[in-house]
Amino acid sequence: MAIPISQMWTVGSYVFRKRLSGQKRYPLVLMLEPLFRCNLACAGCGKIQYPGHILKKELTPEECFRAIDECGAPMVSIPGGEPLMHPRIVEIVEGMIRRKKYVYLCTNALLLKEKIDGFRPSKYLTFSVHLDGQREHHDFSVCREGGYDLAVEGIREAVRRGFRVTTNTTLFDGADANSVRSFFSEVMDLGVEGIVLSPGYSYEKAPDQKHFLGRARTRRLFRAILSNREKRWKFNMSPLFLEFLMGKRDYRCTPWGAPAYNIFGWQKPCYLLQDGYADTYRELVQSTDWESYGTESGNPKCANCMVSCGYEPSAVHDTFSSIRGLLATARATLFNRYEDRGARNLLTSAYFGAPEANGKLIQIESAETRMEETNV
Ligand code: SF4
Ligand code: SF4
Repeated sequence: MAIPISQMWTVGSYVFRKRLSGQKRYPLVLMLEPLFRCNLACAGCGKIQYPGHILKKELTPEECFRAIDECGAPMVSIPGGEPLMHPRIVEIVEGMIRRKKYVYLCTNALLLKEKIDGFRPSKYLTFSVHLDGQREHHDFSVCREGGYDLAVEGIREAVRRGFRVTTNTTLFDGADANSVRSFFSEVMDLGVEGIVLSPGYSYEKAPDQKHFLGRARTRRLFRAILSNREKRWKFNMSPLFLEFLMGKRDYRCTPWGAPAYNIFGWQKPCYLLQDGYADTYRELVQSTDWESYGTESGNPKCANCMVSCGYEPSAVHDTFSSIRGLLATARATLFNRYEDRGARNLLTSAYFGAPEANGKLIQIESAETRMEETNV
């Protein structure tokens, strides 16, 4: 596992304190979206379809600090939109670091080389670079030729300067499992700390609706990809969450584990769905009908979801809430090769091997066109 001990200690002791205090619902990571605009227009994105006047809006640093102070999560993930397009992003990150929060700044890295001088390396700051696979796959997924090369340049520069860097990959139906495995080796060779993975979520607003994974297909894909691991692969994620993706364990969604805050307020119930907004974190926790969410709830919007923001907090909670969970995590960390002949066969099967089985994401309008339209 690639997560530094100090970060694990911070999270573990936080969960322990919450459990001791009897608090049932607590946040692990704040999903902070300081803006929705982006310099890419990926086909699977559910964030950039807002009208121009919304895309022009952004949170102030003070609003961001109020959100983290209100919820108290030990980690902050800053997706977007593209956070590096926020004119005060350095101030936001520094304020989080001053509060000793572990920040994952999620970026497509197109602007990373240009903006990196503003940041200082810290154990609290990780650049989490969006890469959806090898060059051809990534460029197709983000609908931008040359996107992969620019992202890799940004990664190399950040690694060279001593920053913590991870990659951040979303997988859709039709993903080429063999190519994804080669991609893991390529990114580890770049010197990143680890890899972050998630299946895509079928946003209603995303232009490509055909390539989101159902649960059975998600498990098959992740079993093929994550079994028989190479030694050098490191994942900056809960090992129990990876087992969940591989179909080795089951969890209920804990959407309150990763509350989302953006220009509209606290989003109900999670980063993916928009069933209203609350003005405060307390109101979010108290006024959301949590039982109506998660796969077991029967809510069709949650039926196929295995996304990290809902289920990784469940895995982390499992790790730190019992001796059994700690032992399972230790085992998953120490014995992490997952030898599986059936999974090897999957890699050579028609499902993952035949080119015609690999669906293509559709191309949508270019990012430049979108930016011109919104005049941002
Ligand atoms: S990089 Fe792609 S997925 Fe991420 S916010 Fe921009 S358009 Fe959306
Ligand atoms: S199952 Fe997915 S979409 Fe539903 S609440 Fe959980 S994270 Fe959100």
